[in-house]
Formats: sequence, structure tokens, C-alpha cells
Amino acid sequence: MKGRRILLKCATLVTMDERLGVIDNADLLVHGDRIAAIAHRIDEPDAQVVDCAGRIVIPGLINAHLHTWQTGLRGAAANWTLPEYFRSMHAGLATFFGPEDINVATLAGALNQINCGTTTLVDWCHNNPTPEHTDAAIEGLAESGIRAVFMHGSPKPDPKPGQRPFWELPHPRAEIERLRAGRLSGDDALVTLGMAILGPHYSTWEVTRADFELAREYDLLKSMHCAGLAPRCPDGWDRLADAGLLDARTNVVHGNDLGDAQLRRMVEAGVSFSVTPEGEATQGHGFPIIGRLRELGARPSLGSDLESVFGGDMLGAARVALALQRARDNEAARARTGELPATSTVPVSEALAWITIEGARMLGQQHRLGSLTVGKQADLVVVDARSIGMQPVHDPVASVVLQAGPGDVEAVMIAGHWAKRDHRLAYPGVRARLAELAASGERILGRLSGAGARQAEAAH
Ligand SMILES: [Zn+2]
Repeated sequence: MKGRRILLKCATLVTMDERLGVIDNADLLVHGDRIAAIAHRIDEPDAQVVDCAGRIVIPGLINAHLHTWQTGLRGAAANWTLPEYFRSMHAGLATFFGPEDINVATLAGALNQINCGTTTLVDWCHNNPTPEHTDAAIEGLAESGIRAVFMHGSPKPDPKPGQRPFWELPHPRAEIERLRAGRLSGDDALVTLGMAILGPHYSTWEVTRADFELAREYDLLKSMHCAGLAPRCPDGWDRLADAGLLDARTNVVHGNDLGDAQLRRMVEAGVSFSVTPEGEATQGHGFPIIGRLRELGARPSLGSDLESVFGGDMLGAARVALALQRARDNEAARARTGELPATSTVPVSEALAWITIEGARMLGQQHRLGSLTVGKQADLVVVDARSIGMQPVHDPVASVVLQAGPGDVEAVMIAGHWAKRDHRLAYPGVRARLAELAASGERILGRLSGAGARQAEAAH
């Protein structure tokens, strides 16, 4: 193995590796981009030694679903339900984005993810009207230093006269070909390619089938939303299953309205599910399906979804998801028996799995990512557990999930490189880029209010 060695000393390791569990007072050696050794004591004279006493080291977090391009619009969608979001975001604000807006929003959003402890971001980018927009988003991800799967999507504007609506348009093959042959050709690179498609919920059967076949042709993970509004192709999931097109390279985001038989069939076919707990609860998708998946022996990955509404802290998302599912189960038990369950239905360790190893599984990367395991990529987070909000630590897993916040994320390593250290991002010049982000957001929001005023004027 080539590359430098970094030795983390005297840490509490929450490995999320089933065989290793939690190890107190342990050392972890990084060599190049990988975890080279884990033991109670490692001596490596050539290594850069990092004192991790009082720290909890966890695997890098995986955000399985984020529309990073909306980062410049923070707060703008705070009170919107799903129909308002479609009208004002996709048919409104999204149409005013230039490539430079996508670039700075993606960069800032990815840096925020790193700051919060995310090392792998599934960037669900569905505002790509031109190749220049797409390249600008990929450039933002690459510049941030985050590990990312760039899910190439398509915009959803209102159709203009004479145009076909977005739900009748197959995914642009030329773009997938271009990206697969060019910038995103490698599957082991830091930024890789996936497809953010419409699927049966948001497109016709013909489009759904064509997009699934295109993803299979290029062996790409494909992800699609499913929830909230009436599906455009109600029998689409069954038709996909009948055609043998549902597989482990299929990811469904939300899935709240799927029937029990449908959900079972999809889980059995290996389909993964990504839950975005805050967005689903807020915008009206229906109740998160975590409990329904658990009954089928499956587990979700989690995403923070909407930078225009929520902060992107994945520990926060895990906390919300856990609280929602426990609330649901407690309420069901009270309704059934008049009493509370004897203990919590979902253990706190499972919530950490949703944002680590389950995220890796969703990506088909569980052999490389998602746990502190020798041979896996050195993606990890150093949580400073000496803080006033975390002391004393009696259960490191509980402390991380239920007490830690982004302020406790002291350091973040991605592929063996420090992306954050001593509570500071490695990226130089964050302030200047934040000023660009603010100017971009103001310009775009200004155009929407201008359009609204013109509509109101025309109505008079
Ligand atoms: Zn989404």
C-alpha cells in the first residue's frame, strides 16, 4: 500500500462493524486511503499521530438523498407543502438557475455536509437543463473534497406551448453516455455517477421502462421519488417487477404510499429505500416507512433531502427518524393494549446504522464504506465527546446519536485526507464562496417575486 500513515490514538471506536462493535481506548491506523489496522495498541513510528483521547470515532456518515443545488435558497421553502414545493420550486425557482448558481450551491452544500460529518453524499441533482449545469454541479462536488454519487436528473418545468411535458421525456441518453465516457467513468473515484430518474410515480410507463433499461445498460444505480401526489403510472411497480427490472441497483426515495404487497415485492427484489424523515413529515408524503421495512427484515438509508427547508445534519435526521418511529410504535401499542411497550421498539444503534452501513448498502458499496473495518476506505468522523453537551459518556452510541451535534464534529477524514480538522474545514476561502451563494440566492428569489408580481398585475 502506498501513501502516508495517520495513527489515531486512544479513541473510543464505534465501528458499526458487527464483529468489532464498540472498542474503548483503541488505536486506528490509516495508510493511504484505507483503514490499515485497528487494535488496542498500534506502534507505527512513521505515522502522524493524532491524540483521540476523549473522542468517539465513528464511520463517515452517508447522506442518501440531498438536493444540494437548493443550498442558496435556505429557508425559502420553510412553509411549503408538496404541491407548493412543486409549483414554486420546480416550475418556478429552479428555472432561474444558471450553471454558476448550481456550482456554488453544490459546493457550499457539500462543504456543509462535511462540516456535519457526512463523508458520502448522494447528490440528487434534478436541475440539469444543460450539460453546463451538470458540469457545474460535478465541479462543485469535486472542489469540496466530499465522496459523492452524482445522481444525474432532469428538470421539471411547466411545459411551454408545443413542448412535451417532462413526464413524457426519457432520461437524456446522450448525457449519460457523455458522463460515463468522460468525467464520471470510474467506479472507484471520489465522485461517481448514478441516475436520478422519474420512475413510475412521476412518468409514463414508456419513460419508466426506457430509463430503467438505460441504467441497466450502463450498470448505474438509479433512484426515483415515490410519494405525496397521485402516481402517473399506478401499476408501474408491478410492471417493472414482471419485466424483471427491479433489482438492488434500484433505490426508491420515500415510498410512503406503497401498498403492503407492493412493498414486499420490491423488498424481495432487493430494492433499497431512502427515508427523508423531516421532509416527509413536513411536506405531506405520509408517514415514514421505517417500521414497515423493519417488519419485512429490511432497513432504510436516510437523507436530509431539502436544503431549502432543513439543515443537512445527518445525526439530526437519524434522531428525527428514530423519534418518529418510536412514537408510531408506542402509539400503536397503546391503541392495541392500552399500555406502552416494555422497551423501545428500535434500538438507538440502529439509527446510526441507517446513516452509515445502510447508506453504503444502498449504494452497493458495503464492502468499501459504512463501517470502521480494516481494508475499507478511511472515511471517518472524530466526535469531541469532552464537550458540555456530551459529558459524561456512558454509552458512546447513544451519545453520538442523541447528544452530538455538528459543533461536536471535530474532524472529518475522507479517503485518508482530512477534510475538517480542529473544527475547521480544510477548504480555503469558504467566506468568499458563501458571499457568492447569498448573492445567487437573492437573485433567484428576486426573480420569483418579480414573476409573481407580474402574474398578479396581469390578473387585474
Ligand atoms: Zn427528494
